[in-house]
Amino acid sequence: MKIAEPLGRLGTESAFEVLARAAALSNEGRDIINLGIGQPDFRTPEHIVEAGVRALRDGHHGYTPANGIPPLREAVAADLERRHGTAVDPGQVIVQPGGKPTMFYAALAFGGPGAEILYPDPGFPIYRSVIEFSGAKAVPVPLTAETGFAFDADTVLSRITPATSLIILNSPANPTGAVTPKEQIDRLVEGLAAHPDVAILSDEIYSRMLYGGQAHASLLSYPEIRHRLILLDGWSKTYAMTGWRLGYAVWPAPLVEPITRLCINDHSCVNAAAQHAGLAALEGPQDAVADMVAEFDRRRRAVVPMLDALPGVTCGDPGGAFYAFADISGTRLTAREAQDLFLEEAGVATIAGTSFGAGGEGYLRVSYAAALDRIEEAMERLATCLKERK
Ligand code: PLP
Repeated sequence: MKIAEPLGRLGTESAFEVLARAAALSNEGRDIINLGIGQPDFRTPEHIVEAGVRALRDGHHGYTPANGIPPLREAVAADLERRHGTAVDPGQVIVQPGGKPTMFYAALAFGGPGAEILYPDPGFPIYRSVIEFSGAKAVPVPLTAETGFAFDADTVLSRITPATSLIILNSPANPTGAVTPKEQIDRLVEGLAAHPDVAILSDEIYSRMLYGGQAHASLLSYPEIRHRLILLDGWSKTYAMTGWRLGYAVWPAPLVEPITRLCINDHSCVNAAAQHAGLAALEGPQDAVADMVAEFDRRRRAVVPMLDALPGVTCGDPGGAFYAFADISGTRLTAREAQDLFLEEAGVATIAGTSFGAGGEGYLRVSYAAALDRIEEAMERLATCLKERK
């Protein structure tokens, strides 16, 4: 067989590997507490499930337009206008099977040999994977504890070269929960005026998950860059719909036709019933979202001090998403050693910071998408595990 070389350049998301190992240990009868997975532990709200079931009963069994059913694209545009105060053309909204395909398509649209694409490190691992798959050079933008892992405009701008075609931003962020302040986004947009050929992919999938008075500054609210902005958002996290495989992006007008063609080539359209469920999510009551965010916040306020109290561990206060990014360097374990020790010995799944880039060494991502009593038990197990090691 002559397998094509780019396939070997694909990375992965190790959360799926940790999930598989945690499942294997559970099958052996171990009680595993999963703080590794990046998905809400809530069920999709009932009225959304009902809309999906109704769509199936009503006969929505066929292909839909490749870019999504018109009412859904209109509802996305209305939702974005409501939340970010800026008009969006539904014709520029493309509904995709989750947020991830947007990353792939953006890398295909702006990557390839000779191009350079900036991505956050530590950051969601799929960014680097798809950049390298495209043949482009993946250029890390270091995010550090000094800024609470938020983007620093000057650092981003300093990485731009004449070969840069795309910058990937993510706030609130995975894996750190960092929220980039509006001043930094203002400065970045100002600086980008000097680089008119550079496009921006802003991954705002956690935009509704904010705590402690944090505000979300959407790149969508800057008219001067709208013509070169890809805005990624979706239903997976906000409405606890990871398994439905539904997401969307707003694309620059010249890319709508080619990306729709990519959709036709790739998957034809998103599952019709899921699209109807997504419509109910946007048009229906939002109390369930508020309840989920309030519960995440309650856990966040509990888990951060508990992590901080572990021997050799310190943890800053994340302003968004549902992750704590704990500095474990005082334990003298590498991130990977800590991940393995905690899973195998304590039965607690977490993810090594290095799964999100070299900048994650010395850190562990702890997802608080688990019930509070389980989180408390996990922290007790980690405390025992670390004390026994001494
Ligand atoms: N963007 C970020 C930053 C994520 O953490 C994730 C999922 O973990 C996604 C996008 C992808 O979400 P989806 O399940 O909609 O593909």
